[in-house]
Amino acid sequence: DPRSYRPSKDALKDRVILITGASDGIGKAVAIAAAAHGAQVVLHGRNVRKLEGVYDTIVASGGPRPSILPLDFEKAGPEEYEKLVAALDQEFGRLDGLLHNASMLGERAPIEHHDVAKWMRTMHVNVNAPFILTRSCLPLLKRSPDPVILFTSSGVVSNPRAFWGSYLVSKWASDGLMHMLAQELENQPAMRVNSINPGGVKTNMRLQAYPAEDRSKLPEPEAITAAYLFLLGPDSRGVQGQTINAQ
Ligand code: NDP
Repeated sequence: DPRSYRPSKDALKDRVILITGASDGIGKAVAIAAAAHGAQVVLHGRNVRKLEGVYDTIVASGGPRPSILPLDFEKAGPEEYEKLVAALDQEFGRLDGLLHNASMLGERAPIEHHDVAKWMRTMHVNVNAPFILTRSCLPLLKRSPDPVILFTSSGVVSNPRAFWGSYLVSKWASDGLMHMLAQELENQPAMRVNSINPGGVKTNMRLQAYPAEDRSKLPEPEAITAAYLFLLGPDSRGVQGQTINAQ
């Protein structure tokens, strides 16, 4: 069971793993946990100060020195993705893992009243960015002996509900991209493509989505990283085209 996975200390040793949205919440917790198991993490986010805080935490605990690659998915053009990939290529020459974790919640409103510009922004950050980043990173991933691409799903995919607007549609789209990619890459036996549904976790996004709920019952991001480490590491060999629940 991925949820009770107990990785060895070196489970992710020497793997270069790019984590989007690693400045906060779940992405930050997964970055710290992956580094604690030997991964060379590449921290992506918008807020450089927050990314430096994650960097310092990892270095202070004796993990491999991470890299920081900031990029605002709302504003970035194709040439900025190319620069990011060129920086990865120069530093590592390959990529072993790509975790698409960054997302925005966007507006929740009935379709009739959903703001068009806000809808497009959410789709851009949650769908177009993972598409462009995947496309840009595939050559580097193909140089890894055991490459992994992991998308982030949500309960709104298995359980669609009213008023969740662009966020719901973006999560269906990113799971669609995952399924399609898993089949496109099935002739490259080493390439694993899956998605993970973290379940309810105590983060800023969760607070934005459920401002009135009792937060004391929610797990901290650090408590749900086991399934992430499983899917990002060698022990998930053979798992393909699936959505795995982290809780
Ligand atoms: P947080 O809001 O805590 O963190 C979001 C992360 O995404 C931050 O690192 C943020 O960077 C980054 N990000 C947001 N917008 C952009 C952008 N335009 N460009 C670059 N980076 C951006 O969210 P969670 O940790 O809660 O969510 C992580 C993932 O888990 C998301 O995909 C979410 O949909 C999913 N999820 C979360 C659940 C929960 O209960 N928390 C439940 C189901 C799914 P910065 O800090 O620099 O702004």
